[in-house]
Parts: sequence; structure tokens; C-alpha cells
Amino acid sequence: MLTIYKELGISEEVYQYGEKIAVSLKERFDAIDQTAEYNQLKVIQAMQQNKISAECFNYSSGYGYDDLGRDRLEQVYASTFHTEAALVRPQITCGTHALALALGANLRPGDELLSPVGKPYDTLEEVIGIRASKGSLAEYGITYRQVDLLEDGYFDYPAIEKAITEKTKLVTIQRSKGYQTRPSYSVEKIGELIAFIKKIKPEVICMVDNCYGEFVETREPSDVGADMIVGSLIKNPGGGLAPIGGYIAGREDLIENCAYRLTSPGLGKEVGASLGVIKDFYQGFFLAPTVVSGAVKGAIFAANVYEKLGFPVVPDSTESRHDIIQAVTLGSADGVIAFCKGIQAAAPVDSYVSPEPWPMPGYDSDVIMAAGAFVQGSSIELSADGPIKEPYAVYFQGGLTWAHAKLGILQSLQHLVDAGLVEKKNLQ
Ligand SMILES: *Cc1c(COP(=O)(O)O)cnc(C)c1O
Repeated sequence: MLTIYKELGISEEVYQYGEKIAVSLKERFDAIDQTAEYNQLKVIQAMQQNKISAECFNYSSGYGYDDLGRDRLEQVYASTFHTEAALVRPQITCGTHALALALGANLRPGDELLSPVGKPYDTLEEVIGIRASKGSLAEYGITYRQVDLLEDGYFDYPAIEKAITEKTKLVTIQRSKGYQTRPSYSVEKIGELIAFIKKIKPEVICMVDNCYGEFVETREPSDVGADMIVGSLIKNPGGGLAPIGGYIAGREDLIENCAYRLTSPGLGKEVGASLGVIKDFYQGFFLAPTVVSGAVKGAIFAANVYEKLGFPVVPDSTESRHDIIQAVTLGSADGVIAFCKGIQAAAPVDSYVSPEPWPMPGYDSDVIMAAGAFVQGSSIELSADGPIKEPYAVYFQGGLTWAHAKLGILQSLQHLVDAGLVEKKNLQ
């Protein structure tokens, strides 16, 4: 083992340091395997109940009428997430599109959207119209209200109660912290929040942005009262195989609205050819519980590797996990750059290129990104990015297998050691 790690550029000190940490995590990894096992059975059960057969993998083109594979896949998602219906389509181009669709389809002029969990994910600011944007909900006369989080990152219940009015039609709850410093929420916490909101106004629609959360726990927000859950197929539920796509799962009437909005009034779910990607959607969903477990192990491994070297990590080395994202504060631009170069060097694709910081549109500082992915921008695959500014933190996520995630993290550490940013004597 050491020989092949050495051939890949990992020194004996770094390898041994990693091994000690991996051994100390055995119990936690066993628990993650249990979650993956349960979720795997959930998916298999859903595929069996819906009688998936080879016919479901056929190519459909044109209008896509009677696309058996597409329709059954939507039932598989609905069965797995315990919802009445689902919309799972390659025509949903990304997570932001899926969220914009769920909102736009179910809100009408005069309605108000409420976020009781503070600021939503960056790209949603333009969807909602928090930042003025063409085609935003604001342009259609849909208002927005936000209740900020308490100091501890959790819910300000009295303020939420006050913010729910006769206009409040839909509440959006983001499960993962995204690029914020607040905690990612457990399914249990989301359930408590939904129960509170429904007690005040039972008819309000509760939607959960489930991006990065699928299969991290044995339950999903739809198991604790969410009326719709929404996510991207180039994150967790695509299992690394889906080349595009998004999903919305939830109450039948809400999903119907989404279908009419995605295609056209009158057409809805009946059209939308799957163009040969459907087998990858099935197979990716089948693999997703295991893929997610590898990514979660990688995140926990990284937290332990870096926390013990004195770098602040969020979540910390012992916290329970509700998504696949890990933040590590390296404290210097050189640290962020070395980390990302290490992640890149471990990739199966584009390992020979070296990422550099650049002024990315939409960011107020240079950003460095590392990814060597099979699917462009896929963040269920091992990837890292960091803005070159205080506090010099990198966010990283994914890894289609635990072994790859582990190599990536060891490579990142090796690059920090080689750059003189971590001392060898600290690897004892
Ligand atoms: C990734 C993400 C989105 C947006 O998804 P894209 O596919 O990048 O458009 C929305 N919300 C959260 C929490 C995310 O992690």
C-alpha cells in the first residue's frame, strides 16, 4: 500500500499520519456504512415496487410521449422519498433551475415567499429578486420575507411566527449551509421547524432545498412534513453517473404545477424525451447511497486530519453530518492554493493541470477551484474551491469513492507539507 501511495507522490509521514486518523474513525465509518446500507435497501425496494425492467432504459426522442423509463423513474424517486409524486428530468438543467421551477410554479402574484433560515443560497437571490434580475419572482409581484437566524445558527421561532401572514404561501428551508457559516440542519431539526410553521398556518407549502443532503441520513425532509424537496442530479442523487438533471419530489398537486411550468400548460409531464440518459439516472440513483457514504467519510477524514494540525474546520472533527460539505480554514492564500493543487493532483481526470486563482464573475475576490471531474461542475465528485480572501478557507466536497476522497485529502496535505505550511514534526 505504502509503495503505491509513494508512487502517487505521498510521503511516508503523510501516509502514516492519515492511517492513524483513518483507524481512529472506524466506529464512525461503521455507522455511515449502516446508513448507506439502509438507504441502498430503500432504493432497491423502490425499484422493485415499481417493476423496473430493461425496457425502462430505452431511448426516447422527440416529444417523448409514453416514455416508460422516465415515468417509472419518477415513481422510484417518489417511493424512495415517500412522496406522492416526483419530477425527475434532464430538462431541469441544474439545482438552481429546479428550485426556481418549484417556486415559480407554485407562487402567484400577490403571494409571499418566506425564508425562516436566513439568507438563501447565492444563486437564489436572483431567482427571488433579492438582487434585481430579469425574470425574478419579484418582477411577477411575488414578495419575499426573511427571518434571520439566531446567534447559534438556529431558528428564531418568535420572529418566524410574526413573519407568517395571510400572504405567506410558501416557506423555503435550505438544508445545507452552502457557503455560509451556519450549521447544516438535520432532518429532525427541519421537521421541528415545519411542525411549528404548520401549526401556525397548516396550508402553507413547506419546500426544502435538499441539495447536498440526500442519503446522508436515513430519512429525508419529506419524511418529516416537507411538501416538496428539491435537488440537483449532479450532486448526491445522481450518484456521479447522471450527466445533467434535477428533481422535485412532493405532493401531487404541487408537482403537477411544476410539470406544467417546466413544459407548458396543457402538456405537463406527458412530454420531455429522456434522450438516452435515463439508464444513468437509474444506475446513479442506485449507487447514490454508497457514493454519498464515501463523500461523508472523506469530509469527516478531512476534518480530523486538519483539526489535529490546528486548522479550524466546520463541521468539526466530531460533529454529526447532515450534508457532504467540509470547510477548512487554512489561514493564508498559499495554504488555499496548496490545498486545491493537492485535490487536483489526486483527480482521475486532468490531474496534470494546476489550478490557479482567477477573478471569477460574480465573486468579489479571486477564486481557486480544483476539480477533475467526469461531469462538468459535478460536486458529488471530489472538488474544492476557495476565495482568496480572509479567512482563507476552502470548501470541499464529494468523492465518488472513499479511497479517492482519502487520496485527495492526503495529496492536499502533502502539498501543504511541501510548501512548508505544515511542519513534518506535527505529523507525529
Ligand atoms: C448547489 C446548490 C444549489 C444550486 O445548485 P446548482 O446546481 O449549482 O444550480 C442550491 N442550493 C444549495 C444548498 C446548493 O448546495
